[in-house]
Amino acid sequence: MDDLVALCKRRGFIYPASEIYGGLNGFWDYGPLGTELKNNIRDAWWHDMVRCPPIGPDGEPISIVGLDSSIIQNPRVWEASGHVDGFNDPMVDCRETKSRYRADHLMVLGGEDTGERRLYAYLAGDDEGRDRAVKLLGKYEKVSAEEADWTDRPLVDLPAAALERVVGPDTKEPGSLTEPRQFNLMFKTFVGALQSEDSAAYLRPETAQGIFLNFNNVVDTMRVKVPFGIAQVGKAFRNEVTPRNYIFRSREFEQMEIEWFCHESEAATWFDFWCETRRKWWESMGLTSDSVQMRRHDADELAHYAKEGCGTFDVEYRFPFTSPDFGELEGVAHRGNYDLSRHMEFSKKKLEYFDQPRNERYLPHVIEPSAGLSRGTLAILCEAFTPDEARASKVYMKFQPRVAPIKAAVFPLVNKDGMPEIAGKLYETLRQRWPIQYDAKQSIGKRYARMDEAGCPWCFTVDSDTVNDQAVTVRDRDSLSQDRLAIDQVENWLADRLK
Ligand code: ATP
Repeated sequence: MDDLVALCKRRGFIYPASEIYGGLNGFWDYGPLGTELKNNIRDAWWHDMVRCPPIGPDGEPISIVGLDSSIIQNPRVWEASGHVDGFNDPMVDCRETKSRYRADHLMVLGGEDTGERRLYAYLAGDDEGRDRAVKLLGKYEKVSAEEADWTDRPLVDLPAAALERVVGPDTKEPGSLTEPRQFNLMFKTFVGALQSEDSAAYLRPETAQGIFLNFNNVVDTMRVKVPFGIAQVGKAFRNEVTPRNYIFRSREFEQMEIEWFCHESEAATWFDFWCETRRKWWESMGLTSDSVQMRRHDADELAHYAKEGCGTFDVEYRFPFTSPDFGELEGVAHRGNYDLSRHMEFSKKKLEYFDQPRNERYLPHVIEPSAGLSRGTLAILCEAFTPDEARASKVYMKFQPRVAPIKAAVFPLVNKDGMPEIAGKLYETLRQRWPIQYDAKQSIGKRYARMDEAGCPWCFTVDSDTVNDQAVTVRDRDSLSQDRLAIDQVENWLADRLK
């Protein structure tokens, strides 16, 4: 991860937000290449789900329309959706350091529970934190880790009385951690000049609710018929207790969500369809099948809206910091008619749908494939990162051409003998259609190295032969092959590969 984070900074993919002021925990900025990459993933999703959606279980193309709703909505929305009451994570405060941790993220290291022995807490997945716990516990119990009877346990599995014997992740004495308490993850703000509770509002913690609010509008204006979907991409905000693992868990992030409205009797079929469709989609974006898995939520993990008896499946990816385990990339949930019925109850507006073929009025059930665009970008960055000692750059980013931020580069071998003019002309033609880079600085080896780190699939070099044979050398990022290609063929050649 350290190498990937360094490359992302060096090559302009991702920077810490407000870096010159020391940053702000849980916030990130996307640089020029990161913005292109993220936009490409977003556009691929929009194309494959909205413009050209998959073929449904009955062999017919399904129907999905797009939406872009407000980030700030009437605060009643979040009461109806259950986020005001239910969108809580149990959290533990450290009275000494004032740090706050998500209870389910804390592990404790310690021996068999005698009611007296100390336990040392650390954050799950934090190897340095665990090493520290091993060191301090060894010193305290005067025993080496090899001889000790210690085990690692989730903090939430401890009996309440054991908490006073737990040493916090950043403290030396036990008893500083509070019992887990609920903490609302929504960011609060005020609308208008008066900053009173009457004007309080929230930044949306998910894009989904904007879709439910517009259900009637879309049905009335778009001639859509159940089953159909509404899709939205946009920012969501959660005041995460412990933002970490780079952009995996941040406080401002982007989601790509579909609410799929269907008749209750068909919900199970559509649920299976969406689980399969979404797993395949991530694989089509270049995530290899052995690094992606589907995992059914345990009963105690289900969100407040999840339909009883019909679970939630996560599409998971094996991130370097979760490996050998997996981390959530997307959740596919059966929300039942929870949201529409709650909004109907709270707004007193009718949200039922009249199904003409069935001659039935009902609240559709909803299957929700909810993907993280920011997490997806991270997964694709992790997957692309390919160390290669044989290259000058020692590493290259093996992006699929579809998501690559730069599709091709054009170089004049040297800055004379007519080469810059020919290369410049080729660059100007190609950039009309794709993001292309022109680079005439430093040696050709250094230019290839820069493009390898940027994940640019092809480089076209104009050399001294070009004037005579009207051809360029095309260098392939992955195979490193170098072939000759007629200059007037380059545009078609590239179009073919970027189809
Ligand atoms: P987690 O259990 O990791 O907190 P969640 O189950 O609360 O996630 P959902 O509410 O299902 O997540 O949100 C849908 C998707 O939004 C997730 O699969 C993830 O890709 C993304 N997401 C959620 N929270 C964050 C976050 N803090 N930072 C980045 N992406 C997030």
